[in-house]
Amino acid sequence: MFDGFREECGVFGIYGHPDAANLTYLGLYALQHRGQEAAGIVSSDGKELFSQKAMGLVADIFTEERIKKLPGNAAIGHNRYSTTGDSSAINIQPILVNFALGGLAIAHNGNLVNAGILKDELEAYGSIFQSTMDSEVIIHLIAQSRMASLHERIVDALGHVQGSYSLVLITEKEIIAVRDPHGFRPLALGEVDGAAVVASETCAFDLIEATYVRDVEPGEMIVINKDGIHSSFPFKHAEPSHCIFEFIYFARPDSKVFGQNVYAIRKAFGRQLAKESAVSADVVIPVPDSGVPAALGYAEEAGLPFDTGLIRNHYVGRTFIEPRQSIRHFGVKIKLNPVADALRGKRVVVVDDSIVRGTTSKKIIKMIRNAGAAEVHLRISSPPTMYPCYYGIDTPTRQELIAASHNVEEIRRYVTADSLSYISLEGVKQVVNFPINYCVACFDGAYPVPFPGELMAQLGLFDKK
Ligand code: AMP
Repeated sequence: MFDGFREECGVFGIYGHPDAANLTYLGLYALQHRGQEAAGIVSSDGKELFSQKAMGLVADIFTEERIKKLPGNAAIGHNRYSTTGDSSAINIQPILVNFALGGLAIAHNGNLVNAGILKDELEAYGSIFQSTMDSEVIIHLIAQSRMASLHERIVDALGHVQGSYSLVLITEKEIIAVRDPHGFRPLALGEVDGAAVVASETCAFDLIEATYVRDVEPGEMIVINKDGIHSSFPFKHAEPSHCIFEFIYFARPDSKVFGQNVYAIRKAFGRQLAKESAVSADVVIPVPDSGVPAALGYAEEAGLPFDTGLIRNHYVGRTFIEPRQSIRHFGVKIKLNPVADALRGKRVVVVDDSIVRGTTSKKIIKMIRNAGAAEVHLRISSPPTMYPCYYGIDTPTRQELIAASHNVEEIRRYVTADSLSYISLEGVKQVVNFPINYCVACFDGAYPVPFPGELMAQLGLFDKK
């Protein structure tokens, strides 16, 4: 079994810096929100690749001693986010192998929708898989490619995969960054002390004082080695489909992704939400932390005071990390606590970024009422999440998505809000400047890359070309 769409990750790479591993550690630290289950770094000293990886948080894994074991002026790193399923040590990235052309390690953010089909075919031809990660398919495709050079083999391999990938690879001599032709997941290129860096989000650049140069473009492959930076567009062109959920929830607000600042977009979602669904109220409070920018935008537009009505305990991970349903329910309570003085007797607008299963909202509304609020109006800065994501954002199956089987009024009753409104999809598109194409499949079911059922009907890997 593959972990499927439960892969949300952060990737980082640097070439040409004497402190490569240290800066990679810091980069991963800044990208911790993209994955808290495990992390790894692979470095190169020009002759050999070195790997250190473990389960846990970046700061706990990368002790001075471990970083010392990562010599060289090039490194790549990966943060892994997993919820349920196989969270064993074998699944920690970067995946490091030695094959016919030497050492190679790969760090992948995204999800390959045809990984299962490719894996079956590769196994039929003798491949032996070490992990349950879809990313390992890419390694096998590279190893089995009949092309001569590594670059040709990477292009050949990626020509077979479908889905989302922002990849960083390292060999003894270079690092390579690739973004899928749809550009589902972000990947940015920067510069620090003359060294080139790539990262899932620009917040990683800020921490290491790197300058943002530009995004790695959809369908672009960038090779960085002693000869400099070489860019090419070797894949079949596709319409860009940037993941809207990066803006709604996933990316850090101080990052720039898809060329736009996440905080500004989230705040504009809040303003748009207030325009679409005003309500008489005394105060606007966010569900921290992800609801804060939208709540600020909402309060500004509605002309209502913004207040802190919920305090988040920062020492627990994101709710979804909990592996079992029973623990996740409990998780909301350990994570958030109401500030009764800010809520008592008030008509409260609560702003959150999304409702997935509805569990969080229900608990939060109960908390706010118990703290003495007179009315609770829930406002959501994304449209109803009705379809699962197959391109790298963790979403449950359709059956578990409350909006897949319930209308807004039914959800309002379930979460016990006095009123409930979501931002419209048109409102979202307006804010992000549609049609600079975004993938909004989680809201409208229009999947830009067909998912496994349909892929089954397609030609097998070894019949292609
Ligand atoms: P739920 O209880 O399932 O409705 O969860 C909704 C909460 O989970 C919201 O407060 C969101 O901020 C958060 N959330 C939404 N999408 C994700 C995701 N992909 N991973 C982790 N948390 C999420």
